[in-house]
Amino acid sequence: MKKKHFSVLVILLLLTGCSNQLNDFNWKFWEYFMDEETTEEIVEEVPENEEPVEEEKPDENSETEAPPETDENQFILDEPFFTVLNEEKVIENTDNILVLVNKNQSLPADYVPKDLTIPEVPFSFEGDFDKKYLREEAARALEDLFAAAETENVEIFAVSGYRSYETQYGIYNTYLKKWGEEKTNAVSAIPGHSEHQTGLAMDISSRSAGLDLTEEFGETPEGKWVKERASEHGFIIRYPHDGEVITGYQYEPWHLRYVGKEVAAYMDEHDLTLEEFFDRAIKQ
Ligand SMILES: [Zn+2]
Repeated sequence: MKKKHFSVLVILLLLTGCSNQLNDFNWKFWEYFMDEETTEEIVEEVPENEEPVEEEKPDENSETEAPPETDENQFILDEPFFTVLNEEKVIENTDNILVLVNKNQSLPADYVPKDLTIPEVPFSFEGDFDKKYLREEAARALEDLFAAAETENVEIFAVSGYRSYETQYGIYNTYLKKWGEEKTNAVSAIPGHSEHQTGLAMDISSRSAGLDLTEEFGETPEGKWVKERASEHGFIIRYPHDGEVITGYQYEPWHLRYVGKEVAAYMDEHDLTLEEFFDRAIKQ
């Protein structure tokens, strides 16, 4: 059958001459007479495969895609450091050094830290009062902070540390009678909700701020030094400027809270409140 077709092709070529117009036509005939294997090879060279074009698309788009998620914004934290609450939002693991006390969750009324001690630092008052005390770990860290300040000729004073539930009850109700509920709640904690009851918070001041607990302290050289250096010794400014929406309290440049060096450094680096820190903390 192929021989017959070949004869027809030869006749056709003789009749038409090998004009350029028929080259394409002739080639298709030669393809027909070739072995199947060879034909297939040619066919394989011809296919209009668009896949390579599609493969390039992801490369072009990759530049506009969001960067892959990293763990940079997370802090891996051991489970015991997370605050555990009962149904009334009262804290159960009260001795946790990272305990989160705020307007939403409180310490039990009868909670008194077992390891309270007086740090060896200058106080703004004389005498043995509860407010001189801090928990052991926080007291040692405060001594380190004050020693560092002294080395750099920065004179600061401890003003108010541990505060019992009963004392906070008295303070809160005094403010309440004087200022009413709204103003009182912006500056003073409802009993059980004060961080001072943890024994991990110390209010500090300087002569330049009249040894008072006022916003002015944040503008003094001493207040600025503390803001800059507190985290190196494990403390944070617990109620930062413009943090009221998150913490529920106005700016308190004098209120230091002990959280340990690692957490303090992370919070300082990322400019976080303690509430925001726990939003990022991942249980390990
Ligand atoms: Zn305070």
